[in-house]
Amino acid sequence: MPVEALFDISEPGEAQAKEVCKGRAVGIDLGTTNSLVAVVQAGQPTCLRDEHGSLLPSVVHYATDGGVVVGQEARGLAAQAPQDTIASVKRFMGRGPRDAEATRRLTPYQFAPGGDSESVVRFSVLGGQRAVTPVEVSAEILRVLKTRAEVALGGELDGAVITVPAYFDDGQRQATRDAGRLAGLEVMRLLNEPTAAALAYGLDKQAEGTFAVFDLGGGTFDISILKLEGGVFEVKSTGGDSALGGDDFDRAVAAHLLRQMRLPEDAAGDRYLTRRVLDAARDAKEALTKLSATEVVIERGPGDIWRGTLTRDELDHVVKPVVDRCEPPARRALRDASLEAKQLSGVILVGGATRMPIVRRLVASVFGREPLADIDPDEVVALGAAVQADLLAGNARKDVVLMDVVPLSLGLEMMGGVAEKLIHRNTTVPCGAVQTFTTYADNQTGFDLHVVQGERELVADCRSLARFKLTGVPPMPAGMARLQVTFLVDADGLLSVSAHEQTTGKESSIRVKPSYGLTDDEVERMIRDSFAHAEQDVGERLLVVERVEADRILRATRAALAASADLLVEGERAAIEAAMGALEEVKAGRDHLAVRAAIQALDAASKDFATRRMNQALAQGLRGQDIGAVESKVGK
Ligand code: ADP
Ligand code: MG
Repeated sequence: MPVEALFDISEPGEAQAKEVCKGRAVGIDLGTTNSLVAVVQAGQPTCLRDEHGSLLPSVVHYATDGGVVVGQEARGLAAQAPQDTIASVKRFMGRGPRDAEATRRLTPYQFAPGGDSESVVRFSVLGGQRAVTPVEVSAEILRVLKTRAEVALGGELDGAVITVPAYFDDGQRQATRDAGRLAGLEVMRLLNEPTAAALAYGLDKQAEGTFAVFDLGGGTFDISILKLEGGVFEVKSTGGDSALGGDDFDRAVAAHLLRQMRLPEDAAGDRYLTRRVLDAARDAKEALTKLSATEVVIERGPGDIWRGTLTRDELDHVVKPVVDRCEPPARRALRDASLEAKQLSGVILVGGATRMPIVRRLVASVFGREPLADIDPDEVVALGAAVQADLLAGNARKDVVLMDVVPLSLGLEMMGGVAEKLIHRNTTVPCGAVQTFTTYADNQTGFDLHVVQGERELVADCRSLARFKLTGVPPMPAGMARLQVTFLVDADGLLSVSAHEQTTGKESSIRVKPSYGLTDDEVERMIRDSFAHAEQDVGERLLVVERVEADRILRATRAALAASADLLVEGERAAIEAAMGALEEVKAGRDHLAVRAAIQALDAASKDFATRRMNQALAQGLRGQDIGAVESKVGK
């Protein structure tokens, strides 16, 4: 079934026009580890740092007096009150308890029992007195940045652009938007982090060409291939791993330190010690970016101080397996963009972890060149977001158009469990597709729509995003109903699906809001699987399609034999029944070509009988009716 029409949205900027608000607009990099707010002042994007010139650590502490502490001070409290101090909350945005379970090892948090809202993770703080969602925790961080900006700009903000990893799925994006709203921000747009970085570079340097953006932060790795041309950015492909970053280096170093301290890998379940070891690991790792050796001091227990040293070589050895995990997604992103490394004009570094020499060596070896790091890798995303915010607020130049892509194909479940893709992965957003479907059975009064995401041919191998129903369709013969389904992905990458039954005007729509997210390991796996299984899948799909067709024909033939036995000629029933038996037999097998052949044989055996039935039906139908009535029936 071909896609019948593609929406032509030539001006992504225009789609935003109604949301534009003039005035004070900021860009916010809501990071896993650190967050930052930036604004364009006198045409120049600038970061608004605190009085010490620091980034805002994305850490929120819930104090026993009911207060909430955010940032540097909260990070300091993590060692004393690990369960009441939430760090790396971004890893939990839009995620469910099952995802949280997967991240449990070496995290000190306590999760609240599911209750009736199984789909949202909640951190249990203050000895279980309070349960907070990731959206609430993130809103605390955003509130601090909002206040900081309002103080610096001398007035209330009119809007903000918040960045998200390119790989964030719909649930994670919705959660980020919700956090902004909860913090009292008018979220004008969510912007992919690598796109923001490219925007910062593109405007500052007036660069043209194709770039790779390599973003290794605390918790996420994003790789994007972008094309910059005549002031227009286009994302050619994206990839990465949302469970890979500096935190993983910290964990690897912590495991190494625990071995040296002769302690078990889980620090014997001691949450306080775990926090102290992780903090020491991070400090040592960061120090070794500049130094070749550093001292490590950890309070192993009350009055029991452990001292050791860590060298750059040891660090490199310990983190190498983690660093190496960046390579496959980076190579795949190039492949997806049909590019070789040498065709790139440059590689942009983003994220604190890209300061590490071993990471720069990996980037240089994968892309065959030294990466660009002219703009502070900590600030570049927030700066780009500020540029975009300024543009949306109507203050900036109008000729910058952003284009991002859909990370995984989106489609619908078809009869027999086959996935029909409406929007293919790496399609530039905003985008849309319209496709018309019909009923499979007679008198079907509703449609079950199942929206799926993934690269595989069978629904069972894809991820289920949402289900909805369109009901109230009057009974009609199979194939008469015309169900037009529209998929729209907006500039933020959020999907809405609507269905419209054209003969009756019945409508139904849904904003796809998955209850919890997909890890990037899963995305990776789904894409890899689709390559590995491509051939098998196509065969499987054909088999399913033929079986569905076989069932339809068998049912129709059986009904016809029962209804019009009088029209059968000598020996005809036996021939038709033999063909039906043969079809039943091959249908149980796995050879789609054999099923096809048996369908054709049954068609041939029943062809004359069908013609006689058709003639009889026409003769009966016309008797006593005028032509106009027949026409209006056909036209409906
Ligand atoms: P995010 O985007 O996840 O908020 P950032 O871009 O702020 O993250 O990067 C934070 C990560 O960068 C942390 O893991 C931190 O330890 C690491 N990092 C920051 N500075 C350095 C440094 N000088 N050397 C090595 N790693 C660093
Ligand atoms: Mg970041």
